[in-house]
Amino acid sequence: MARNSAGDEGFGTGRGDRGWLELGDFLGPGFHLVFTDRWGGVSDPPYHELNLAFHTGDDPLKVERNREILARALGLDESRIAYPEQVHGLRVAWVTRRDTGDGAPGIVVPRETDGLLCGEGGLALSVLTADCAPVAMGYPGHGVVAMLHAGWRGTVGDIVETACALVERKTGARPSEARAVIGPCIGPCCYEVDEGRAMLFVEKYPGEEVAVRCGGGWRLDLRRANILNMKRCGVAEERIHVIDGCTCCEERYYSFRREGTTGRQGAFVWMDERAC
Ligand SMILES: [Zn+2]
Repeated sequence: MARNSAGDEGFGTGRGDRGWLELGDFLGPGFHLVFTDRWGGVSDPPYHELNLAFHTGDDPLKVERNREILARALGLDESRIAYPEQVHGLRVAWVTRRDTGDGAPGIVVPRETDGLLCGEGGLALSVLTADCAPVAMGYPGHGVVAMLHAGWRGTVGDIVETACALVERKTGARPSEARAVIGPCIGPCCYEVDEGRAMLFVEKYPGEEVAVRCGGGWRLDLRRANILNMKRCGVAEERIHVIDGCTCCEERYYSFRREGTTGRQGAFVWMDERAC
């Protein structure tokens, strides 16, 4: 995706340059995967600029406008982008383009869902984050994609395993055939947690550098934990691509830990019509 300077195509308020990441090629031919950052939209501080989430307290008209800008930039019809109602749970849902509501502008997904899967081209799956890890998966031999929201609950509860199991049940595709990308999230540099939460990770990942003692506290490595979740399912590590960095350290990302009241960036995965 071309890097647009602010003001291109008539949007952006000039505070920063949009630097979205595009990694569809890693998943397979005909696959598309885009991680947005905060630049290139119309929201005012503290949601500036491209806040894609309604539940943040931002002006809903601005969020609507941002979603229009996003859809146009991705080259997708807005009605073909599925936005789940994320609740830090473990529920995943298989969606199709027939899942539209009466008069609703887009795909309607089951409520309280933190992972979406589909086997149709031209239908984009999203999650919105501000420190949690977006995890995208693709099964190039089967024409299946998944987008998962993995905060600490989704990670220690293993939403990856839940999604892999549903894909295998629906299509026969095995996790060893999947490829995955873990998108921008908070790094262990900034993700301090209390001992109770750290112990959940120590128990799930014994002997691994996932929950690490630091000074008097603990820090979590969400990326490492999700890599381990995928490896335990059977995804080879060389088939997992990880975006380094930290949403809390890098100001081009929304960060709940850094900002509190703020917006959400998006992660979007889809296939060409011909890929499946
Ligand atoms: Zn950091």
